[in-house]
Amino acid sequence: RKDVGRISTGSTAVDELIGGGIETQSITEVFGEFGSGKSQISHELAVTIQLPEDKGGLEGECVFIDTENTFRPERIEQISNYFELDHEETLNKIHIARAFNSSHQILMAEKVNELIQSGTNIRLIIVDSLMAHFRAEYIGRESLATRQQKLNQHLHTLQNIATTYNVAIFLTNQVQARPDAFFGSPTKAIGGHVLGHASTYRVWLKKGLAGKRIARLVDSPHLPEGECVFKITSDGVVD
Ligand code: ATP
Repeated sequence: RKDVGRISTGSTAVDELIGGGIETQSITEVFGEFGSGKSQISHELAVTIQLPEDKGGLEGECVFIDTENTFRPERIEQISNYFELDHEETLNKIHIARAFNSSHQILMAEKVNELIQSGTNIRLIIVDSLMAHFRAEYIGRESLATRQQKLNQHLHTLQNIATTYNVAIFLTNQVQARPDAFFGSPTKAIGGHVLGHASTYRVWLKKGLAGKRIARLVDSPHLPEGECVFKITSDGVVD
């Protein structure tokens, strides 16, 4: 894959764990229980994508598909202050798409094509969270096949944008605390077939002691499994 770009998570340790930051042309999924830091990393990336390359960004803009109303402009202001960026300019480069249900979420992802074609320099799409609507709408065994088919379609759209326009995809996924609870995780279950050439990174986030967080890389095709510690502070995600 040519011209792969990397975006810093704010933590050098997490960046190193995943091979130097989240990659364009790839899908990165973070999963973990409530409060593990998924939305915080999403906010951080929405800012760091805008930084120059030597500071961990790609001088790009992003689309933030918000499914649970978790986007907080005040948080962007704090993080952009830390990087000495003008917070209004920073907010202008974050294209918020509130998704009211799963069909709307799928549509919002498709619309990114038009945004890019109109000349907006989108280099990152965040979906926070990937599964919330799908889980709420498709309940029970009999709807599982339809759910997976819709989810497939959504991931396919995202993967296409990633490879066509050299964009990074960042997905969050809430799961229970117990690791054996993620067998049903969507990208794991169908990723191999659906995601085509876009490689997938999966990072499991856990709460540690004294406000620390642990990130563990799992199922990576070409990086060693491992874990590291990071923190969430008012400045954002840090080592
Ligand atoms: P959910 O699945 O419930 O959405 P999540 O993994 O997305 O959870 P986050 O919202 O990313 O969780 O993390 C929330 C945690 O981040 C808070 O519990 C708090 O510990 C920490 N946090 C958020 N904002 C700040 C801040 N300004 N300063 C320090 N810590 C913060």
